[in-house]
Amino acid sequence: MGDGHGGYRTQMGFLTGWRFCPRCGVQLDSDDKRAECAACGSVYYAHSVPAVAALVVGDDGHVLLARRAHEPDAGLWDLLGGFLEEGEEPLDGLRRELLEETGLEVEPHDFLGAFLDTYGEGPQAANVLNLVWRARIVAGQPVSADDVAELRWFPREELPPPEECAFRWVAPFLGGLASARN
Ligand SMILES: [Zn+2]
Repeated sequence: MGDGHGGYRTQMGFLTGWRFCPRCGVQLDSDDKRAECAACGSVYYAHSVPAVAALVVGDDGHVLLARRAHEPDAGLWDLLGGFLEEGEEPLDGLRRELLEETGLEVEPHDFLGAFLDTYGEGPQAANVLNLVWRARIVAGQPVSADDVAELRWFPREELPPPEECAFRWVAPFLGGLASARN
């Protein structure tokens, strides 16, 4: 469901339901974009959560995808990656996530774009901004770990169909790859 900004939004915004300041417990003055605490001066802004993802491409041009082990979207195919930690350099986060999920050391190359999506449902839902790089393996053999149930190499012409792709941005993204010449 578009929100008029060309992206997706969850029904539950970042600040939805916030009533009291998490720092001092006093009642907040808030709307869906911003919450301000008159007592301690804290200001909280609603935002999309930044995540990083890698399109890992092998020497033969095949693409490495991960089948998700856990909800949301357990059992569906996803790019490798995850949420950035606070203050973490995006490419450091990308290397960290790949190492955690696959045991691989990767080196990011071209930036492929930024894709808005949602993650999960209900009170745990988040609006997520996915930053995506093409990456190559520098060292290691892929072994699924962490929140990955299975890793598999896909030829470009045999990428998983949309109904087997996690989230909303992955299927159109992979569809673009299948039709790309490079
Ligand atoms: Zn406060």
